[in-house]
Amino acid sequence: MTSVTIVTGGGRGIGAATARRLAAAGHDVVVGYRNDQAAAEAVVADVRAAGHRGVAVPADTADPDQVQRLFDAAADLGPLTGLVNNAGITSPIGPFADLRVDDLRRVVDVNLVGYVLCAQQAARRMTRGGAIVNVSSAAATLGSPGEYVHYAAVKAATDTLTVGLAKELAPHGIRVNAVAPGIIRTDIHALSGAPDRPDTAAGRIPLGRAGEPDEVAGAIAFLLGPDASYTTGAVLRIAGGL
Ligand code: NAP
Repeated sequence: MTSVTIVTGGGRGIGAATARRLAAAGHDVVVGYRNDQAAAEAVVADVRAAGHRGVAVPADTADPDQVQRLFDAAADLGPLTGLVNNAGITSPIGPFADLRVDDLRRVVDVNLVGYVLCAQQAARRMTRGGAIVNVSSAAATLGSPGEYVHYAAVKAATDTLTVGLAKELAPHGIRVNAVAPGIIRTDIHALSGAPDRPDTAAGRIPLGRAGEPDEVAGAIAFLLGPDASYTTGAVLRIAGGL
């Protein structure tokens, strides 16, 4: 059976590495993105070069109508078998007391509401079974003091979503797992105002360095694949010992 997998936020960072890795593992890949069409199209070109079908679809995952369109576009490739809930944001790094309510709401909207909306579409459409991987964060258990406690709290919700959905969807043949990356070298740090974070944080990471997107992508591909056939409800930490 063909694997048709949606990767939200698949144009850059962890999502882009995951889309490329999944194509190498035999998946057709739908690359969701919000703004950066050129980046998403470049990932799709790599998916096709690997011999698989790929399509880039603009969809803000916090918007139910756009999520519906993303999943409709995937249906054109065949029955959905995989979802990587990856599209996520932080907000400006800083003390909790300075957190702006708009930033809080956007983090909840994208990182929690968006994940729920996409998982719900997947649950409805994976009629032949499938697998979902939620990209959580090591922040869920570390709390991110002085940086973004609200983001950490939302990532903890991702872990609970993973555990609950794994149990609810198991009878339907749908496995649900999460990865919890530590500090990974992507644009997300610049977007939160700390472009050097992967290097400045290295000293407090037991393995002594930030991770690379590919080091997360491999774990996601494993959790989606047949070697993880008895794995559901797991949160796999990929954080260099953090
Ligand atoms: P990134 O490099 O900033 O890429 C984010 C991707 O998500 C982009 O493709 C972006 O699309 C997309 N996106 C953002 N908001 C979206 C929305 N509302 N709707 C649809 N797509 C949206 O981020 P990353 O570091 O790869 O992070 C990916 C995931 O890993 C996130 O859930 C993040 O919380 C998690 N994570 C990251 C780290 C880390 O250190 N990097 C650590 C732990 C967890 P555009 O390109 O169109 O803007």
